[in-house]
Amino acid sequence: MNTVPPLDLSQQYKLIQDEVSQAVQAVLASGRYIGGSIVEAFEQEFGQYIGVQETIACNSGTDALFLALRAFNIGPGDEVITTPFTFIATAEMISAVGATPVFVDIDPQTFNLDIEQIPNAITARTKAIIPVHLFGQSVDMTRLMVIAQSYHLAVIEDCAQATGASWQGQKVGSIGHIGCFSFFPTKNLGACGDGGAVTTQDPALAQSMRIIKEHGQASRYRSETIGINSRLDALQAAILRIKLRYLDTWNQQRQTLARRYHQLLDPLSEIITPQEIACGQSVWNQYTIRVQSTSDAVNSTLKPRDYLRNYLQEQGIGSMIYYPIPLHQQPVYQGLGYSAEQLPIVEAICQEVLSLPLFPELSSDQQDQVIYAIKEGLVQTLQL
Ligand SMILES: *Cc1c(COP(=O)(O)O)cnc(C)c1O
Repeated sequence: MNTVPPLDLSQQYKLIQDEVSQAVQAVLASGRYIGGSIVEAFEQEFGQYIGVQETIACNSGTDALFLALRAFNIGPGDEVITTPFTFIATAEMISAVGATPVFVDIDPQTFNLDIEQIPNAITARTKAIIPVHLFGQSVDMTRLMVIAQSYHLAVIEDCAQATGASWQGQKVGSIGHIGCFSFFPTKNLGACGDGGAVTTQDPALAQSMRIIKEHGQASRYRSETIGINSRLDALQAAILRIKLRYLDTWNQQRQTLARRYHQLLDPLSEIITPQEIACGQSVWNQYTIRVQSTSDAVNSTLKPRDYLRNYLQEQGIGSMIYYPIPLHQQPVYQGLGYSAEQLPIVEAICQEVLSLPLFPELSSDQQDQVIYAIKEGLVQTLQL
């Protein structure tokens, strides 16, 4: 039986292995493994790609969020508004600097923050908003920036899943005050290990992030603030420079596959396909459908989504649940005191989402296998 993995990074490596080997050998031979011209060149090229003055490479998307929050002096007593439907790192770094995450419910069409609900969550303590461009799709940055400006709030974009995505022709990471990127291997631009970057148009913010990522040192061995050690290795920078040149092609392949999923899945009434909003261009880090909980299945112990996922698994089709638990219901955030049904949309969505195999090298044969298995699986699900 042919299987379809949720993700296969080895195919992409095969495509570029000669270039990567050469670049890696060159770094190894140079004897310069931390910092240096390769890292600087990557920062330059990445900044140009995103459309910003300043890029600072760091160790991970998580560190990028930490640096951005610290650059705004956000700390104890401050509140930061974000989405409960994201990877834990987004809220975790708000907590790590000593501030409090404030969760606003999501828009069920896009899975992103419901912009209309943001003003209700703003208090005298609110310092920033962290919109997350989830699954590769930009938040409505026009409306978000209007709200942020009128309340004088910082905007830190979490672009970890959306490298190359745009909003009204502008790349995400160039619209808010700071953009935070992850080069974790499964992201659209992935290293062969950990990596991240922050982007900004503001030289003063860039300067403070450079200082914080190097032990608070404004000059060598002179520390002015408590910092961290967060670096992108020269080896990873060399690999990322190569992959950056392919990124637009790979993102276009993802878009083609997403459109084909739309066409083939839209006729199925039990499934809601992800919506693209007109002003943005998604780069489809994930293709996430909703398997609706039908009344027929109400008495079943297994949710239709979970039943379908198990069926796909049996057929050799990989799928993932991003995310099974909204952040306000994570054990670590029990103390924030959110009640059940306080954020009803995200709580319902977490029971329904299923991310299907999507990576640039996925073949249409494999995609057909996924669709076939979904159709068969739905028939069985409905017989529950
Ligand atoms: C992956 C991810 C991060 C964290 O990035 P790392 O490089 O793994 O630290 C943060 N936010 C979101 C939305 C992510 O998907």
